Amino acid sequence: MIVAMQEHATEEQIDNVIDKMVNSGVNVHRTTGTTQTILAGVGPTANLDIEEFKLLPGVLYVHRISSPYKLAGRGFRPEGTIVTFRNGVQVGGEQVAIMAGPCSIETPEQIHEVARQVKQAGASFLRGGAFKPRSSPYAFQGLGIDGLKLMREAADEQGLLAISEVMEISQIEPMLPYVDCFQVGARNMQNFNLLRELGKVRKPVMLKRGIAATIEELLLASEYILAGGNYDVILCERGIRTYETYTRNTMDVSAIPVIKKLSHLPIIGDPSHGTGRRDMVPPMARASVAAGADGIIVEVHPNPDKAVSDGAQTMFPEAFTELVGQLRLIAAAVGRSL
Ligand code: PEP
Ligand code: MN
Repeated sequence: MIVAMQEHATEEQIDNVIDKMVNSGVNVHRTTGTTQTILAGVGPTANLDIEEFKLLPGVLYVHRISSPYKLAGRGFRPEGTIVTFRNGVQVGGEQVAIMAGPCSIETPEQIHEVARQVKQAGASFLRGGAFKPRSSPYAFQGLGIDGLKLMREAADEQGLLAISEVMEISQIEPMLPYVDCFQVGARNMQNFNLLRELGKVRKPVMLKRGIAATIEELLLASEYILAGGNYDVILCERGIRTYETYTRNTMDVSAIPVIKKLSHLPIIGDPSHGTGRRDMVPPMARASVAAGADGIIVEVHPNPDKAVSDGAQTMFPEAFTELVGQLRLIAAAVGRSL
C-alpha cells in the first residue's frame, strides 16, 4: 500500500501512520520528496482496511499498489529518483550523465589515457571492467582488484566517478574503496542473493537488463535492492536477445520511455552492448537520449582494435568526442542539459 502524506504533515503525524502500519505487520519504506512524504507498506496488506488509514491526521491519500514491484513503481516517488554521487554529480535529474571507458581495464597506460580522453569529451563517469563475465572461460577474465586500483587512480586524476561490475557477493567488500557505483551485469540481473546483498550497501548500483528479461523482470530485480533499503538504484537498457543477428543484441529503445512511465528509477542506455557494433553506437546513443534516457554508458578505448574485450563495439576517442557534442544538442531539445 501507498500512504501519501499531506504537504505540511508533521513528523508526529508521519510517525503515527508508520506505527499503525508496523502494528499491522507491514514493512514500511519511507521516502521524502521535495513536497511530500510517501510511505510504502510492503508485506501482508491484503486484509488491511485502507479506509482506516485515510482517516488518520496528515494523510492525503491511500491506495493499494497493484503492480508486483512495490518500491520500484512510480507511485513510491512520483517526482522521480535522483541519485547524487559524492562529488555532486547527479543521475536522474536535469543532467544527462555520460559514462565511458573500456570494456576491460587492461594496463595503467590504457586506463589513464582513456580517462583523460573521456573526461575531455565530457564524461562524468569512467567505466571499466575488472571482474569480467566472459561467455568463454578461456577468454580474459579481468585484472580484479589490481585493475580497480588502476581505475581509481585514473578516475581521481581526472575528477571522474568510477563504475565497475560486481559479479559475486565476495567481491562487494573489497570493491567498496575503489568504485562509486556498482554495476550488476546482464548475466547477473537475476542473481537474487547478490542483489539482496547490494541492498545492504550504501552505494549506488546500476542494474543492467538481462539478455532475455522483460521490463517487469528488470523492475522486480531492482526491487530486491530497494527492499534492503538501498534506494540509489539506476537501471540500464543494454539490448536483449531477439531473432535478429545483424546486431549483437537488439537495443530496446522503447524500454526507456516504458521504464520512465512505470518506475521512478533513472534509466541509462548502453548502445555498445545494445548493438555490438561501433558504427551503430552513435545512432542508438542519440536515440536513447532523445527517448528520455538519464544517461548513456559507452565503451571507448585509446586503440579499440587492440582491446582485449568487446573491441568491435568500442569507440575511438575522437568519434566519442563528436558523439557527446551531438548528444548535447539532443539533450537541449528534450529539456535536459549535458
Ligand atoms: C560490460 O558492461 O562490459 C558488460 C559485460 O555488460 P553486460 O552485462 O550488459 O553484458
Ligand atoms: Mn563490454
